[in-house]
This record gives sequence, structure tokens and C-alpha cells, in this order.
Amino acid sequence: MAVLEILTYPNPLLKRPCCEVEAIDDETRAFIKDMVETMYSANGIGLAASQVGVSRKIIVLDVSPIDPQHELMAVVNPEIVASEGEIDHEEGCLSVPDCFEKVKRKEKVQLRGMDPDGREIEMNAEGILAITLQHEIDHLNGVLILDRISGLKRELYRRQLKKKKEKEKEEGEE
Ligand SMILES: [Zn+2]
Repeated sequence: MAVLEILTYPNPLLKRPCCEVEAIDDETRAFIKDMVETMYSANGIGLAASQVGVSRKIIVLDVSPIDPQHELMAVVNPEIVASEGEIDHEEGCLSVPDCFEKVKRKEKVQLRGMDPDGREIEMNAEGILAITLQHEIDHLNGVLILDRISGLKRELYRRQLKKKKEKEKEEGEE
């Protein structure tokens, strides 16, 4: 198992839509294990394959630090087939460091996909699980939380990031 590098904004691979996984083989299962290890080592509650530069429809999530009734989940080709309600929730993202913004989400979702053994998953989710599923599935479509907040907030984040990078550069040159 290995901890993979998590890409951060504005890496263009984060914007690339992911492809369906056609066959789940041992290589896919090994990659999913690496994704889980990467998520835990970054103290995240979810991770999408595109965040580690792999454009395949795979997500892992473990929201138990927030809602202990849930446990680790890995979903291949996840798809939201139905949803209802709306909720504003403050979200962060391992690929968008230091950004915590309220994002509009569906309150309840119905998920379809496959587990790492190729068995079909169909489940209803609400609360933090529903929100995290939507966040991770967004990643598979090349959508970041920055795409879901106002243009003004996005611009502020870009400026902050630029300043931070300039500062790091200056410090590196000293
Ligand atoms: Zn994210």
C-alpha cells in the first residue's frame, strides 16, 4: 500500500472528467486500498480518484469521525439516481487547501454503484454521508467546491493562493 500525492487547485487534472471503470481487477482493488490510505493519512473523510491524478470513476469515503453510524465505503462508478431537499453545508476539500465555504447540496440522495468486489450497491443517504457523496462525485465530473461558490469568493481564494505562493517563493529564495 502507498500514500499517493493529492493534487491541489489549480492542477488541470482536477478538471478532467473521469471515465467509467469497465472491469474491477486486482490492480483496481490495490489502487482503492492506496486511495483509502491516502485519505486517512490526510485526515480526510472522502477522496476521489481524480484527486490523485487518476481519471477513473472511483471514490472512497469514511464519514465516521462526524457520524459514527457510518463506516468506510469505496464506490466504483457512483451515480446519484434520485435526490430531494436542499441544504447549505460548509465544506472543505483536500485539493482546495484553506478554503471552507458553504455549498448548496441535496439533502437526501439515492446512490447507485459497485463495491470493490463488483457487487452492485444501491443505497439511500442523508446528512454528512449524502453531502460527502455529492462532493466526491463532483470531483469525478471535474467540479470543485470553488465552482459551487460565488465568483467573488472564488476570486478572493485565487488572490489568497497567489499571495501564499509568492510568500513561499520569497522565503525559498532567502
Ligand atoms: Zn474534495
